[in-house]
Amino acid sequence: MTAKLVIGNWKMNTRLDSARALAEALLKDATTNREGVGVAAPAVYLAALAEQLKGGKIALSSQDVSRFDADGAFTGETSAAMLADVGCRYALVGHSERRQYFGEDNAALLAKMRHAIAAGVAPVLCVGETLEQREAGSYKEVVAEQLSVLSEVEGDYVIAYEPVWAIGTGKVASLEQIAEIHAFIKNWCLQNAAASDKIRVLYGGSVKAENAEAILATKNVDGALVGGASLDAGSFRVICQAAGKLI
Ligand code: PEP
Repeated sequence: MTAKLVIGNWKMNTRLDSARALAEALLKDATTNREGVGVAAPAVYLAALAEQLKGGKIALSSQDVSRFDADGAFTGETSAAMLADVGCRYALVGHSERRQYFGEDNAALLAKMRHAIAAGVAPVLCVGETLEQREAGSYKEVVAEQLSVLSEVEGDYVIAYEPVWAIGTGKVASLEQIAEIHAFIKNWCLQNAAASDKIRVLYGGSVKAENAEAILATKNVDGALVGGASLDAGSFRVICQAAGKLI
């Protein structure tokens, strides 16, 4: 069994002091300061956190990356090269909140994936259906369409399956639902993606201290993308501990 990967997505939360305090708590604890644990921090704090995390084992991730590659007139953007420059190992790409609020489509996400991979930052492509799509029974088609960008990229990347209806809602997909869609994603990768045996598929959507172990033990779940619970060092620790036990 390969090591599980747990990434905390802090979203638009924390201030410099609280981000540093959270990172310090994770650094001090061998359960969280280890390979296979990462934090996706707000862009404005990445450089400070990179300094703080230096010497530790926690991987730094951004929450997004620009679809533009070259330096220049792209006000407000953060390029893949900039993320690599401050030491990001991962970049979230296509989180459902970015698809929803910023209209990110496959063309933009393909560009983001390519630029991140080229810069040596592993993108974490987030996919997942809405409640309407789940109830209409079209969730596999939706996920396959979101995955389709992967047939056009090669290199190191991660997939995070996050049903939109389970993000920040407290509703968790059942273990059967998780097992079914993760098997579907792995199978899709086998047929359509390069180096498919190396691709890790994380689950995200209301992962908490109480449910982490069962979710992480589910077949084809290679780790977790954790939102709300990652803002509390104690809860995140329990999730990382559950992942560590399954290595
Ligand atoms: C996320 O932000 O990717 C997420 C899964 O959030 P939460 O754990 O809060 O549902």
